[in-house]
Amino acid sequence: MQFRDLPRQYEALKPQIDAAMLGVAASARFISGTEVRELESALAEYVGMKHCITCANGTDAITVALRAWGIGQGDAVFVPDFTFFSSGECPADEGATPIFVDVDERTYNLDVDKLDRAVAKVVAEGKYVPRAVVAVDLFGQPADYDAIRSVCNKYNLFLLEDGAQGFGGNIHGKMACSFGDISTTSFFPAKPLGCYGDGGAIFTDNDSWADLIRSICVHGKDTSNPNDPNAKYRNVRIGKNSRLDTLQAAILLPKLRAFVDYELNDVNRVADWYTEGLADSGLVLPIVKDGFYSSWAQYTIQLPSGVDRGEVQAVLRDAGIPSMVYYTNPMHAQRAFAETDSAVADCPVTERLCNTVLSLPLDPYKTKAEIDAVVSKLKDVLPH
Ligand SMILES: *Cc1c(COP(=O)(O)O)cnc(C)c1O
Repeated sequence: MQFRDLPRQYEALKPQIDAAMLGVAASARFISGTEVRELESALAEYVGMKHCITCANGTDAITVALRAWGIGQGDAVFVPDFTFFSSGECPADEGATPIFVDVDERTYNLDVDKLDRAVAKVVAEGKYVPRAVVAVDLFGQPADYDAIRSVCNKYNLFLLEDGAQGFGGNIHGKMACSFGDISTTSFFPAKPLGCYGDGGAIFTDNDSWADLIRSICVHGKDTSNPNDPNAKYRNVRIGKNSRLDTLQAAILLPKLRAFVDYELNDVNRVADWYTEGLADSGLVLPIVKDGFYSSWAQYTIQLPSGVDRGEVQAVLRDAGIPSMVYYTNPMHAQRAFAETDSAVADCPVTERLCNTVLSLPLDPYKTKAEIDAVVSKLKDVLPH
């Protein structure tokens, strides 16, 4: 069994994906081909945002958003302590100070009361200027954006939605990647919507930020005339080279159709099989809040304290069942942040989660028999 069965997905979509790849090879428009703009329109429409700008990966997407807001030295950016490294890496890379905030023990997303207290503390200390919140849609479920938005309004902070794992989710029908002042996602192959390499996208309703983002992504080009083919040789600011390849855009177009038509539904059904099968297991299962819809980037359980996680993984592995630990370290405990103010975070929930979480094999193409096998093996190995 594969943890996330990308070969099976390729088999299902092979004719469309092969045609897309060969089409790009024949056209030789490897950079900024028509598929890139076509994909950007389709993504913007699906998410319900005015602008979508694709870029090289989900990490660049966050960095570019922060740069468009002019966030840097002396600024505080509030980030969950339980997330992938990029969420904290990008503010730090721009010179700002990430402030790590604990998460909710059932949704794994930002604990909004603790967020409010963390911002108040930074304000009171007066050492950094609070500028933005990077909220993460961890494991596929959107963060609690009503409450996060209130905190942002209270302290006048920008809201960046890191939707790298959340693409396809929604809250009462409002789509993930539409909750931030700027929202970002990743098309890394294992994400809910993945390409065949690195890729990312940035979403916003704000015209001037969209313009700035298009400029930053292509060497700070002059965007005053969008039809000027030589704009990238007229550079009005220091930018980056961060574009989505035409090949990746061409692959993503049929993959987006499958994602919307049936994959999202199917992965939710697979997650339900786990939730039903493990209901009486004594494990702490992930919950999706009322009115929320998850795109299930991961199905992450919590083992009872005292159970040896490595041993559980070994028994599963011997039965041909892969599992992963997302994440083993709180952000504040990463060595990269050791000598910064961000390392002094008080995040007991994150610390406990890092010792107990386990992510199970999941993708839209898993069968009921496969999930039953994981469930029964997992129940076998737990103390009765
Ligand atoms: C994967 C991921 C990113 C980074 O995306 P890349 O495309 O790998 O750069 C950022 N944030 C979160 C929460 C992620 O899971």
